[in-house]
Amino acid sequence: MTAIGFIGLGIMGGPMAANLLKAGFGVTGYNRTAAKAQALTAQGGHAAASIAEAVRNADVVITMLPDSPDVEQVALGTGGVFAHARPGTLFIDMSTVAPEVAQRLAESGHAAGLRVLDAPVSGGKQGAIDGTLSVMVGGDAADVAAARPVLEAVGSTIVHVGPAGAGQTVKAANQLITAGTIGLVAEAIVFLQAHGIDPEPAVQAMAGGLAGSTILNRKAAAMLHHDFTPTFRAALHHKDLGILTSAARNAGVVLPLGTCAASLMAALNAQGRGELDHGALITVIEQLSGRPAAAADPAGN
Ligand code: NAP
Repeated sequence: MTAIGFIGLGIMGGPMAANLLKAGFGVTGYNRTAAKAQALTAQGGHAAASIAEAVRNADVVITMLPDSPDVEQVALGTGGVFAHARPGTLFIDMSTVAPEVAQRLAESGHAAGLRVLDAPVSGGKQGAIDGTLSVMVGGDAADVAAARPVLEAVGSTIVHVGPAGAGQTVKAANQLITAGTIGLVAEAIVFLQAHGIDPEPAVQAMAGGLAGSTILNRKAAAMLHHDFTPTFRAALHHKDLGILTSAARNAGVVLPLGTCAASLMAALNAQGRGELDHGALITVIEQLSGRPAAAADPAGN
């Protein structure tokens, strides 16, 4: 049985580890806040007290952490993955981090005798629960082939997109499209409400045409009802758009729509609302339209 060490059992990591267990892998999980590892134990996995314990006997180590510094700390720190994993271990970072960080991790991992892939995902919390994530993988083809059975336990679309770091570059483009689309869905809802049109049947009509999208299907209802229970924290999307705009600048390309979406997401975070779901972007559009959240939503969301 392939033994997997899984680090970071949050909104995404928790259900992904559960799906690895369901697929028959042995999973030893580590979470900084130990209580979050209890669900894994109940599902038949093991909870490790340290990163070292989680990775020591693993064939594959997966990290699912918020940001570049978190992954660097967990991978490169003194008590970290690279110090304790066995040579030949396949290290797969599935977090969304900067492409250059993924490239540096690959170099450091190779120097430590590990095989390294960047394999960020898209599909949200529901995709993680359903095991239908889209996985964009950067690294060596032989390592991608070795990882495929593991990745297929958490995702239904697994694509090798290029060398180390390429997975993260594709993920940045993915986040450009998701942020822009959420912004446009938010604007459409506010526009319809201002015309006195019930947005629910309107969304139903639009979803059947060219404007239809996964975001319209999955997020519009929560956005118009101001249910911002986090499935993807706005703070993380803000982080992703920082990665995107920096990478665009490095490549010498402009993203007129992307930078606008990034500014709106930055505004949401600057207002101290980064722990809400990224669908809360609609509150920024409401404010800009003079239809502030308090008026649109008595609950004050
Ligand atoms: P999350 O719910 O905040 O979970 C993050 C996990 O990382 C938590 O278990 C947290 O532990 C742990 N952690 C944070 N900082 C750490 C550190 N310095 N050292 C060790 N552990 C640390 O985030 P998430 O939504 O699962 O997202 C994880 C990654 O997936 C992010 O890169 C995100 O951009 C990406 N992603 C998210 C989604 C989504 O829809 N949510 C979709 C695609 C990709 P504690 O329990 O102690 O806080």
